[in-house]
Amino acid sequence: MPDAMVAARVSEAASGTTQQVDVAVVGAGFAGLYLLHRLRKAGFTTAVLEEADDVGGTWYWNRYPGARCDIQTIDYSYTFDPELESAWKWSEKYATQPEILRYLGFVADRYDLRPDIRFRTRITAATWDQAVERWLLTTNSGATVSCRYYIMATGCLSSPKPPEIDGVKDFKGEIYFTSRWPREEVKLAGKRVAVIGTGSSGIQAIPLIAEQAAHLTVFQRTPSFAIPAQNGPPPADRVALLKSDRASYRAQARDSLAGVPWPLSTVVSWQLSDAERRERFETAWAAGDLIYILTQLWADQGVDFEGNAVLADLVREKIREIVKNPETAAALTPHDHPFGAKRPCLDTNYYATYNRPNVTLVNLRQEPIKSITASGIKTDKRTADLDVIVFATGFDAMTGAIRAVHPITGRGGKSLSDVWTHGPQTYLGLTVAGFPNLFMITGPGSPSVLSNMAVSIEQHVDWVVDRLIAMREAGFTTIEATETAQAGWAQHMADCSTLTLHRLANTWYTGANVPGKAQGVMPYPGGVGPYRSICNEVVSHNMLGFRLTGPNGAEQCNDGQIVRLQPDVRLVLNMLADMKLPPLECFGAQGARDFLAAFNAARPAGRPVGDVVDGTLTVTGGSLPYRLYRPATPGPHPIVVYFHGGGWVLGDQVSDEPFCRDMCRRSGMIFVSVGYRHAPEHRFPTAAEDGYAATRWIAEHAADLGGKPGPVMVAGWSAGANVAAVTCQLARDRGGPQISGQLLVCPVTDCTFDRPSYNDNATGYFLTRSLMFWFWDLYCSPADRTDPRVSPLRGKLQGLPPAFVTTCEFDPLRDEGVAYAEAMSAAGVPVEQLKARGHFHTSMTMVDVVITGVSGRVQMADALRRFAGLPPAWREGDVGFRPSQVVAPHEIASAAE
Ligand code: NAP
Repeated sequence: MPDAMVAARVSEAASGTTQQVDVAVVGAGFAGLYLLHRLRKAGFTTAVLEEADDVGGTWYWNRYPGARCDIQTIDYSYTFDPELESAWKWSEKYATQPEILRYLGFVADRYDLRPDIRFRTRITAATWDQAVERWLLTTNSGATVSCRYYIMATGCLSSPKPPEIDGVKDFKGEIYFTSRWPREEVKLAGKRVAVIGTGSSGIQAIPLIAEQAAHLTVFQRTPSFAIPAQNGPPPADRVALLKSDRASYRAQARDSLAGVPWPLSTVVSWQLSDAERRERFETAWAAGDLIYILTQLWADQGVDFEGNAVLADLVREKIREIVKNPETAAALTPHDHPFGAKRPCLDTNYYATYNRPNVTLVNLRQEPIKSITASGIKTDKRTADLDVIVFATGFDAMTGAIRAVHPITGRGGKSLSDVWTHGPQTYLGLTVAGFPNLFMITGPGSPSVLSNMAVSIEQHVDWVVDRLIAMREAGFTTIEATETAQAGWAQHMADCSTLTLHRLANTWYTGANVPGKAQGVMPYPGGVGPYRSICNEVVSHNMLGFRLTGPNGAEQCNDGQIVRLQPDVRLVLNMLADMKLPPLECFGAQGARDFLAAFNAARPAGRPVGDVVDGTLTVTGGSLPYRLYRPATPGPHPIVVYFHGGGWVLGDQVSDEPFCRDMCRRSGMIFVSVGYRHAPEHRFPTAAEDGYAATRWIAEHAADLGGKPGPVMVAGWSAGANVAAVTCQLARDRGGPQISGQLLVCPVTDCTFDRPSYNDNATGYFLTRSLMFWFWDLYCSPADRTDPRVSPLRGKLQGLPPAFVTTCEFDPLRDEGVAYAEAMSAAGVPVEQLKARGHFHTSMTMVDVVITGVSGRVQMADALRRFAGLPPAWREGDVGFRPSQVVAPHEIASAAE
C-alpha cells in the first residue's frame, strides 16, 4: 500500500471518534487475512489492526537471509478457495520468505482486504465493558475501537525474546535480530559476524551468512537436530497427488495428525530389522521433509523413548559423517532431548558450513558468554572481535504473542496476564474463562505450532466465524468458556502431554527458553484431526463448556468437560465405533473365539523378551497348555502365574501376549500364561479349579521352569483376574501353594450388576453390560453365582496375599474392583489401588496402542517387584509419567473412614 494512503487512514483513525465494528482482529498475517475474508462474507463489520505497514505477519518481520517455510509450500497454503489455489503457483518445495510474503499480498489484493486493515496501528489496551457487552480497544495513534468480538490473530512466534546477555548496549558494531530483520539490504561482505542461537532461524541463516562474511563465529548453547531440506521445485509426486484429487488431499490433511496428508504409520521400531530401519531412515533423509521423518518412519518414534532413540542415533551418525572436525561434530550433536521433542530444523548445508575455513563454532556449554563488549563477545576462554552480531535467540512463544502485546482486561477487571501467571489456561486454545467474546487463533492449548499452521489457522477461523454466525441466528450476544470446561481442557492437555516426548525437552514449546516463564507443554499435542473432531463435538453437544447469553435474559449453558477419556483411548474407541462391529455375543461362543483369534492375529506379538517357551502342565482331569515368557536378564527369576481375560469363555494362553511380554520386561520376572479351560464346554468351577491347580503345579516346578523356588505371584486381567483372586483364596484355604502377591487388573469380583459403573459404562466402551451378562450365563448358573469361587468378594478375605488392584474409570467392572480392594484392605490385607482415570477395560492390555497405559504398567510391574522384595525398575522414558491415581493403603483406609 502506498505510504500516502497509510498516512491518510492513520489520521482518519486519529480523528477522535470511536470506530464501532462487530469484530476487531489483531494481526494481518495468515490468520488475520482469512478471518477478515470470512467475517466480511458473513456480513460482520470488521477492523483488522496491524502494527506493520503491510500484510504478512511473521513473514513480514522474519526477513533474515535464508528464511523459508519448513512445511512443503503446497501444504502451507490457503485451501478455502479452489480458484485461489489454481491462481497461485509456488516456485519451490520450500518457498522463500519473499515469495510467501508476495503470496499473502496477492491474497490481500485478490479479496480486496486492505481497505479494512489499519496498518501501523498497535493496540495499547483491550478492556471488556460488561455494561454494553463490548471490548474497547485503545491504540498508539489515539484512535479507539469498540467491538462486540475481539480476535487475536497474533501468531505464536511474534514476540521476540530479549537476548538476556550483559553488555548488548555497549556493542559499537551492527546488531540484528532474525525476528526483526531490516527491509533494506544488510551488507555482511568482508565483515566479522557472530550469530547467537542455533534454532530454526539460526540454522537457516548461518550457511548464507557464512558465504558473505569474512569470518563467522557461531555461539551455540544447545545443538538442535536438523535434516536437509533437499529443496528444489515442488516434488512432482506430491503435486500430482494434490492435483489428482485436490479435495480429498486437503480433507486428508485436515484429518491427519500434523496437518499434512501422510497416512498413519502403524509399524513400530522393534518390528523392523536394523537394515529395514536404516532403509526407512535413508529414504526420509533423502525426502527432506520434517513431517515425513516425524510421522512415517515408525509409529513409536514420537511416543516411546526407545523407538525415538533409534532415530536420534541415525541422525547423530549423519552429523558425524558430514562435519569433518570431530570436536565440532561432537559439539553439534544433540544428546539432551529426543528427536522432535524440541522443534527439529530443516537446513540447507548447515552442518557442511562448519567445514568452511571462515566458520568457528563456540560451544557455550563449555565456555559461556561472559559479556558483550564494545568490540565483540567475551567468553570464559576467548574474545571474538566483531563487526556484526546477529541474534537468532527466538521468541517468547505462544503466550508472549498474546500476553505481552498489551494489557487485556476481562470481566470483573481480570487481567489476562494475571490469569496466566502460572501458565496459559484456555478452553480449546480458543477462549479463556472470564474473557467473554475474546478468541485466539492458534492460541496455547491448540495444535498450532505442532501442526501445519495453515491447516490449523483455517480450522480455527472457520470454527470461530461459524460460531459467531450461529450466535447471531440464535440471538446470543456473548460467549464465554466455563471454568469446568477450561479445567477439563487443562487435564486433557496434561494427558496428551504424557503421550508424547515433548515433556522430556526444555524448549520454547514448554516455556523453558524464557527465564522465569511458567513451564508446561503449551501447544496441543493430540493432533490436528482429533482436535478438529473435539471442536466439532463441542458444537454437536450444544456448545458444551460455553455460556451464551443474549438480550432479555436469554442464556444457555451446557457445562461440562469435552474429553474425559485418555487421548489414545478416545482414538481407539472412535476407530472401533467406525468399524461398526456387531456385538461379540451375537457370534456364539466359537464364533466369538474365532473373531478374537483373527483380531489378535493382526496384532504384533509384542517386544522381544529373553525366551518364549510353550508347554503343558498337568491338572486333575487333564493337562493345560501354557506359554512362558522369560526375561533376557540372568535367572533364576521370580515367577508370576498369569490368567488371561475373556469372560471365562474366550482367549487362551497367548491371547494376552503383548501384555505378558511387556510385564515380563518391566518386572524382570517370568510370566507363565495358563490356558485354563473355558465355558460353555467347561462351566463353573472349572476355570477356578484349573487356575488353582495350575498355580500349584507351577510352584512345584519353579526350578524346572528356570524360576526361583519359593512363593509365586498370581496376576490376571478381567475374568483372568477373577481366577487369580479366587486362586489366592483357595491357596490360603487348601494349604498352599505360597503366594506372595496378587495383581488384579479390572477383576470380576461379584455377581451383581447394580453398581453404578455397570450403568455408567453399559455401552460404548468395548466391554458392555450385555456382553458381561452373556459371559456370566455361559459360565455359571444363577444358583452358583454367590459361590466365592466365582464371586470372591463374598468370600473370606482375611489372610490373603498383598494385592495391587487396577480399575479403569470407563469400565463396567470398575466398582466391583474397587469394592474388592476396599474389602480386602478392611480385612487387613495390604492393598494398593490404581484407579486409572480416562481408561477403559482393555487399556492396560493394549500395549503399544494405548500408550497412556504405560504408567499403569510401570506401577503394576513395580508392585510385583515389591511383592518379590525387589527394588523398582524404572525405564528412562517413564520418569514422571504418572497420569493415573495411585491410592496407597493408608489412603484407602482413610477414604473408607
Ligand atoms: P529458537 O528455536 O528458540 O532458537 C533460539 C536459539 O537461541 C536457541 O539455540 C537458543 O539456545 C539460543 N539462545 C536463546 N537465548 C540465548 C542466550 N541468552 N544465549 C545463547 N543462546 C541463546 O528460535 P528460532 O530459531 O527463532 O525458531 C523459533 C521457531 O520459529 C522455530 O522452532 C520454528 O517453529 C519457527 N521458525 C520456523 C521457520 C520456518 O518455518 N522455516 C524458520 C524459523 C523459525 P537454547 O536452545 O539453549 O535456548
